[in-house]
Amino acid sequence: MTTVAIIVAAGRGSRAGGGVPKQWRALGGSVVLAHSLAAFRASPDIDRIVVVVHPDDMPRAAVLAAEGITFTAGGATRDASVRNALETLADSGATRVLIHDGARPLVSPALIARMILALDEVVAAAPALPVTDALWRGEDGHVIGTVARDGLYRAQTPQAFDFAAILAAHRAHPGGAADDVEVARAAGLDVTIIDGDEDNIKLTYPSDFVRAERILRERRMDIRAGNGFDVHAFGPGDHVWLCGVKVPHGRGLVGHSDADVGMHALTDAIYGALAEGDIGRHFPPSDPQWKGAASHIFLTHAVRLMRERGFALSNCDVTLVCEHPKIGPHAITMQQELAKIMEVDVTRISVKATTSERLGFTGREEGIAALATALLVTA
Ligand code: MG
Repeated sequence: MTTVAIIVAAGRGSRAGGGVPKQWRALGGSVVLAHSLAAFRASPDIDRIVVVVHPDDMPRAAVLAAEGITFTAGGATRDASVRNALETLADSGATRVLIHDGARPLVSPALIARMILALDEVVAAAPALPVTDALWRGEDGHVIGTVARDGLYRAQTPQAFDFAAILAAHRAHPGGAADDVEVARAAGLDVTIIDGDEDNIKLTYPSDFVRAERILRERRMDIRAGNGFDVHAFGPGDHVWLCGVKVPHGRGLVGHSDADVGMHALTDAIYGALAEGDIGRHFPPSDPQWKGAASHIFLTHAVRLMRERGFALSNCDVTLVCEHPKIGPHAITMQQELAKIMEVDVTRISVKATTSERLGFTGREEGIAALATALLVTA
């Protein structure tokens, strides 16, 4: 079984604005056509891709060249373009073909897989969505009637066919068909409706590009969680540093840096979300330059790394475990201090505390433990 894809991108559509045919306009850091190509290339069941472009666009097409992709010149009409592409594949051994409109860049590999699967059962299938909005007939900006929507569908692509059947249908068709379903039906083929995809929009107007950019951003949304845990022992001193706040206490915390256990846990949570190890990896304790260092240096580094990787902090939550000092009176100041260091809104930062009911090393007041969770999202 050899399955080929034909992407039709020979139109000169200019209603979308931008001065160039819409399939060559920029979208999501690439050109419109590149997105469809990527979806078909990501589909393991597609063996070969033929892209139909306008002869004038051949130089533009060169940048999309890749293994398994051939470019062919379009004809005067859409159905002539498709027929040209089918003819170039006539002796290629293709048994199935998906024909896709290059102005639908958001086609998903899942929809492509659905269409190929349909061809296991039928000779022709097309994706569509039922019309759910009321339909009106209008004239001069006024409603002059309603149209029953029962049985109406919004047609999409890729439309999927048995190769020999659709080639024969195109050869027999006089021309002027709106799409390949029309050509198939004219040849007597039964076309099965497959569930389309609401995001598989056709770019026609400038507002469609805005919507497509939004959908692409959502698809790229990446969410990372990280956790951190740290412990420092009490030693001599008259204060401790906790989450960037100097808290008077009968003892100090022992550590290579300022021993800010809360900030260390939070820093490790961010490194963890980025799969970037922990503080010790970036600031080795063996390096004397970090002796007595203020811990905001570590946190600032983790936050900078986070931003460089394209993430923003959605929220973080730090829990300090100790009997003393009492954290409650300082918690808001700690949140404000962390917000300042991380340059994020204070409402995204939580600092809270618990005792361990006098159990264990924190209960015996031998030291303080801290846990932190950080959630990072695509910026
Ligand atoms: Mg530490």
